[in-house]
Amino acid sequence: MRVGIHISISGGFTKAVKRLLELGCNSCQMFSRSPRGGKARDLKEDEVTTFRELCSINDINPVVVHIPYVLNLATPDPDMHRYAAQMVREDLERADALGAAYLVLHMGSHKGEGTEKGLRQVSGALTTALEGYCGNTVLLLENTSGAGSEVGYLFEHLAAVLQMLESDNAGICFDTCHGFAAGYDLSTYERVNGTVDKFDSIIGIDKLKLIHANDAMFPLGSAKDRHADIGAGHIGEEGFRAILNHTLLKDKPFILETPAAGDADWKRNIEALKALLEGNN
Ligand SMILES: [Zn+2]
Repeated sequence: MRVGIHISISGGFTKAVKRLLELGCNSCQMFSRSPRGGKARDLKEDEVTTFRELCSINDINPVVVHIPYVLNLATPDPDMHRYAAQMVREDLERADALGAAYLVLHMGSHKGEGTEKGLRQVSGALTTALEGYCGNTVLLLENTSGAGSEVGYLFEHLAAVLQMLESDNAGICFDTCHGFAAGYDLSTYERVNGTVDKFDSIIGIDKLKLIHANDAMFPLGSAKDRHADIGAGHIGEEGFRAILNHTLLKDKPFILETPAAGDADWKRNIEALKALLEGNN
């Protein structure tokens, strides 16, 4: 089983890898810059080399980079749109330098211009970001909870952007909490099967590269992006047991983004995930 957490790299890469190993992780996700945006500091060649070596020696993969939350790819504002495309490109290059297999992005909000326009803006920004890019990092669109004027909460939205992009450099990261908040039920074996079948027929399961494993603090269809501990939310233990053991999901990497004040919280959630995996590895 591939399981990781969202880890801070502010204390340096060596410390981050040490923590991952102590927690029993073999995958991870990080921001390559401040999640609130702004200019990123240059990554030094020696720290990047050390990080890649440590990940390789310790079998940490995939490494995942998440773009800053503040970017809005669906924005109708031309300046913000240009900025978002540029940031995605920069983060793609940074992720590639770090040896990251994936760059996860949120699609953002259409701000009253309508979903269709918003989705076209997303694909336009990503097309610009991918122009002339020849690295190995693959872009992953993450499903959203559908709050406000967010786009990307329906499987049809994700499929539409992938289709417009026509790129082998793009796939999907499915966040269980966001999916549940958007109305995709994941609380029983039967309902997980139904949601996976829907994903497969609308997007294609081969496009699913990564799962953000988060329980949901609010009920089905709430449109609220509030993560809960594994088994402690509305998806619950049965839901996660069904997700983790589903034939089409069990070999995907799982990254936790559960609420964590410290490593004890991460440990509890990592152990909860591992305990629900049948056969336990
Ligand atoms: Zn997520």
